[in-house]
Amino acid sequence: KSVDDLAQHGERGGAAEDPAELVAREEQVFGDNPLEVRESDHYTHEYVGGFVDKWDDLIDWKKRYESEGRFFIDQLKARGVESVLDVATGTGFHSVRLLEEGFETVSADGSPQMLAKAFSNGLTYGGHILRVVHADWRWLNRDVHGEYDAIICLGNSFTHLFSERDRRKALAEFYAMLKHDGVLIIDQRNYDAILDDGFSSKHTYYYAGDDVSAEPDHVDEGLARFKYTFPDKSEFFLNMYPLRKNYVRRLLREVGFQRIDTYGDFQETYADQDPDFFIHVAEKN
Ligand code: SAM
Repeated sequence: KSVDDLAQHGERGGAAEDPAELVAREEQVFGDNPLEVRESDHYTHEYVGGFVDKWDDLIDWKKRYESEGRFFIDQLKARGVESVLDVATGTGFHSVRLLEEGFETVSADGSPQMLAKAFSNGLTYGGHILRVVHADWRWLNRDVHGEYDAIICLGNSFTHLFSERDRRKALAEFYAMLKHDGVLIIDQRNYDAILDDGFSSKHTYYYAGDDVSAEPDHVDEGLARFKYTFPDKSEFFLNMYPLRKNYVRRLLREVGFQRIDTYGDFQETYADQDPDFFIHVAEKN
C-alpha cells in the first residue's frame, strides 16, 4: 500500500469517520461549545491539514534536535534496544531520528494526515522510507503486528485520551506489544504546575523563537485547552486532558511496568514545579 492510499483510506478502522473526508478538511471543528469537547476520538479533528503544515513549517527540526540532544537515543541504546514502535509518529521527528541512529522503526499514528506528512518528511530529511501504520492506540494490537524492544509515545501525545478506561486500554496495548524486557518511553507536559500554581504558571510557551505561541485558553481538572497562534495571526486549538505526573506513574505501575523513572526536562533531579515536560521511562522487567 502506498502512503497516499494510507492517507486516503487508512490501514483499518480506528478513526471515527471516513479518513478521506478528514484529509480533505482544513478547518478544526470544535462545535458550539468547545469546552465540552472532552473525547478521546476528537484528535482526528484537531490535527487538520492547515495546522499540521503550519506547525511543521515553523518548528525547526534542527533546533528541536539540538534541544533534545541524545536523551532518547541514549536511553534506548543503554538497554540494547534494536526495534522501536513510535506510536505517536506525528510529523515523524522521532521516527526519522531513530532511523538515522540505525533502529528498526515502525511509525504508527491514528491520524492519516500526520502519517502522510511523516512519510514525506522521512524522504526530505535523509531519504528514509518510513514504515507507517494507521492505528489507534486503543486497538494497537489489531493493526500493528510483532513485538518490540521499545515503544515511544512522545510530544505530549498521551494527553489526548480523555477517559481512564482509554488510558488503561492504551497502556495495556503498549505493554502487550513489548518484549518481556521491553521499555516504554512516554512524556507529558507538566500539568501539575499549570493546575496547582494558578495563573502565574499559565505562561505562554514559545516555539521556534517567537514565531509560534502556545498558551492555556482554559484549564480545569478535566480539560487543558491550548491556543496556538502563528505569525499570520491564525489560531488553532488543542483540547487535552491535564495528566498529573503521579497519576501517570500509578497507571504505568498498575498495568504492570516494574520500574518507572521520571525525568524533568531530561534531567534526573528537578523541583517538581520547574520542568515544562516530564518523561517517564517504564521498564517491563
Ligand atoms: N510525537 C510527535 C511529536 O512529538 O512531534 C507528535 C505529537 S502530536 C502532539 C500527538 C500525536 O498523537 C498526533 O499525531 C495524533 O494523531 C496522535 N494521537 C492522539 N491520540 C491518538 C490515539 N488515540 N491513537 C493514535 N494516535 C493518537
